[in-house]
Amino acid sequence: MVKVVKFGGSSLADAEHFKQVASIIKADPARKYVVPSAPGKRSKEDTKVTDMLYHCYEMITARENIDEYYDQIKARYNQIIAELGMSFDISGELEYVKSAMQHSSGRDYAASRGEYLNGLILAKYLGYDFIDAENVIFFKDNGTFDEEKTNVALTEELKKHEHAVIPGFYGVMPNGTIKTFSRGGSDITGSIVARAANADLYENWTDVSGFMMADPRIIDDPCSIKTITYRELRELSYMGATVLHEDAIFPVRYAKIPINIRNTNRPEDEGTMIVSDTNDYDTQRIITGVAGKKGFTVITIEKDMMNSEIGFGRKVLEVLEDNEISFEHLPSGIDNMSIVVSTTEFEPHKDKVITSINRMVRPDSIVVENGLALIATVGRAMIKAKGTAARVFNSISGADVNIRMIDQGSSEISIIVGVEEHDFDKALRAIYGEFVK
Ligand code: ASP
Repeated sequence: MVKVVKFGGSSLADAEHFKQVASIIKADPARKYVVPSAPGKRSKEDTKVTDMLYHCYEMITARENIDEYYDQIKARYNQIIAELGMSFDISGELEYVKSAMQHSSGRDYAASRGEYLNGLILAKYLGYDFIDAENVIFFKDNGTFDEEKTNVALTEELKKHEHAVIPGFYGVMPNGTIKTFSRGGSDITGSIVARAANADLYENWTDVSGFMMADPRIIDDPCSIKTITYRELRELSYMGATVLHEDAIFPVRYAKIPINIRNTNRPEDEGTMIVSDTNDYDTQRIITGVAGKKGFTVITIEKDMMNSEIGFGRKVLEVLEDNEISFEHLPSGIDNMSIVVSTTEFEPHKDKVITSINRMVRPDSIVVENGLALIATVGRAMIKAKGTAARVFNSISGADVNIRMIDQGSSEISIIVGVEEHDFDKALRAIYGEFVK
């Protein structure tokens, strides 16, 4: 049995958390490979080390002196080492990093050192080997992750180590420079390592006990989700339910390695299992979760006999493409078609888009409305449960909220409705209340 464990920044923010992390790792001999983030916030007002490193980079670019500011970063690592009672001297590493940053090693290099230094300390503390991500995580020239090369190299490397720490968040470009994933990217490294180790489980330790069925800022004390499929998670994270980096799913998904989201501060909680498939429809609630987001615009185009006009849809979408706008949804009728786009993406190109659509397809009318919120009700059990859509719609209208758009999509595991932004919370509560009694 092999488990790959990833610990987020809040789980490694100070010495106390390091101790907790070590006891979690040592409690299960299967926890062989560890992927750490950089030290996160110790309190609400605190700054993550990654953000401090980005700031150093900006100061250097602005030709400011970083001595004093960098001392704070040093202090964070030195304090962790001292409070762990270790006799580990990291000052040479800290000086090297500072000087490399000052000698234009780049923004990503600077940011990545948070994980690198934390990884060195954690490896020493656990008595595990240290594998520098720069030797095993590869990017291509165009900046995308090189999955094949990485998997071959990492699989080989892991075979040489019984236990190892591999820092998250970064890898190397073909020309040898350091590149990071996007923010929160240690989740991705964890997933890549899990795949290469052919792990039985990828445990992702954070500061919450998994996913909630709804946003706790809107729903009081929502129920937690025990199991969720990758597909359901994708639908919910599209709506902004973030606990895990979206790209962290792909490496383990094909290898069918489940991800377990766990809480470092409450290791007794089971957390949420993210799995490729599950058959426990009977014990499962009809809906797995409900999430949504604001900030959408609907462009509604009407034209008589639109349905028989060949190429109509393509021309309209071409206009969006030319303006580099992606569309989120495309509900359409017989003589009309609506395009839902992100308001921030659309607004700067609005006039040009409307003029072009008018020219390309000569519609009877185009109406643009802002202020739309989308809510997705997601559940794998919906496929078998009759009347779910009716319950979603009835609950919303029962709350006196007008539904502006419906999109059941083809996935069958989610029903998406559009409502006015000011009705967002009300509609979300109504749906949650309907299915979770
Ligand atoms: N430290 C990086 C960040 O803050 C990566 C991570 O924590 O996953 O984005």
